[in-house]
Amino acid sequence: MKYIDEFNNPVLAKNILRKIRKNSSRRMNIMEVCGTHTMAIFRHGLREMLPESINFLSGPGCPVCVTSQKDIDRMIALAGMKDVIVATFGDMLKVPGTLTSLEKERAGGADIRVVYGPAESLAIARENPGKKVVFIGIGFETTSPLIAACVLDAFKSKMKNYFVLTSHKLVVPAMQALMESEDVKIDGFLCPGHVSITIGADAYKPIPEKYGVPCVVSGFEPLDILQSIYMIINQIRSSESKVETQYKRVVCDKGNKVSQELLSRVFEEAGAEWRGLGNIPGSGLKLKKKYDSFNAEKQFNLKIGESRENPACSCGEILKGIKKPSDCRLFGKACTPENPYGPCMVSTEGTCAAYYKYGK
Ligand code: SF4
Repeated sequence: MKYIDEFNNPVLAKNILRKIRKNSSRRMNIMEVCGTHTMAIFRHGLREMLPESINFLSGPGCPVCVTSQKDIDRMIALAGMKDVIVATFGDMLKVPGTLTSLEKERAGGADIRVVYGPAESLAIARENPGKKVVFIGIGFETTSPLIAACVLDAFKSKMKNYFVLTSHKLVVPAMQALMESEDVKIDGFLCPGHVSITIGADAYKPIPEKYGVPCVVSGFEPLDILQSIYMIINQIRSSESKVETQYKRVVCDKGNKVSQELLSRVFEEAGAEWRGLGNIPGSGLKLKKKYDSFNAEKQFNLKIGESRENPACSCGEILKGIKKPSDCRLFGKACTPENPYGPCMVSTEGTCAAYYKYGK
C-alpha cells in the first residue's frame, strides 16, 4: 500500500478481517500501548468489527494519564510562584491535582500558557526576560528530543530564565513492568508508531525474548491496525514471538539517530513514578548535571503536601489494562470530559475519553 486512501480501503479491510476471524478462535489480550491507537481503534469502530475473542487492553501510552499525582502537584506549585510563567501542553490544564488543577490556578490569576510545542516556551522566555519560564516536560521519546533541542538552544544562548520540569517517560521499561506484573495477562503488544520512529523497532526485542510475547509496531490508519493485529495473531498461532514492523513506511529497526543523539546529550535515564505502575527503575529521563541551571526541580524550592489520587478514580488500573472505563462507577456520570475526575478522561489520548466519545 502506497497512498493514504488504500489504508482505508473497505475491500482490503474485509479481506484482513476475514483472515483474522478465521485464525482467532481462542481469546487473546492485545494491548495497544499508545493512546493514539486507542483513539484510532474507537474512531474507526474496529472493536465492533473484530471477533469477540480479541480483547483490547489500553496501555500506559498516554503521557498526560501516566503523569503521577505528585508531578501534577509539583506543576501546580510552580504555577503559584512569584514571577513564574508555566508553559504547558493544553491537555495538562484540566488534570486534577490533589487539591486543585492548573486550570483553576490560571482562573485564579496564575500565568499559565498553553503551547503546541516546546519551542514556543523558549520564545516566551525570550519575550519575558523579567520572568522565569518553566516548561512542563511530559511525554515519551516522541516529544523529549524536541525538549532536548530547546535545552541545548537555551544553553547556547546562555539563557537565565528558562527551565524544564521533567516528567519524561520511556515506553519499553513500562511494557516490561507490565509483563512482570502478576495481575496483567498480555498475549501481544501493538507497539506505538510515533515513539518507534525515535527508538526503532529493535528497542522492543527484550519483550519477545524475555517474555515470549509478540510485538508489532503499527501505524494508525484502520488497515495499519488490522494488519498489525493479523501479524500478532499469526505469531501466536505459530508459537512465535518476535518484533515485527507493520509501520515500515515510517519506522526503521534502529530508529532516528539524530533524535537519539539529542536525547543522550541532554538527558540520562532515571527512575520515574507512573500513575498506576508506581516507580519503575530506568523508565524516565532527567537532565544531565551540565544542564542543572535549566532543571526546575533543582532551581525552585518546590514544596508540596502529601499527594493523593482521587480514591474513586480507577485511572491507575485502567492504565495497567486490568480495568475498563465502564468498570468505574463515575464514568459518564460524575466524570465527563467537562468535569473530569482523572487524567484518563481529560486527555485527548485518554482511554476514558475514548470510551466516552466513541464507546456509545
Ligand atoms: S471515568 Fe473518570 S473517575 Fe473513572 S477512571 Fe476514568 S477518569 Fe477516573
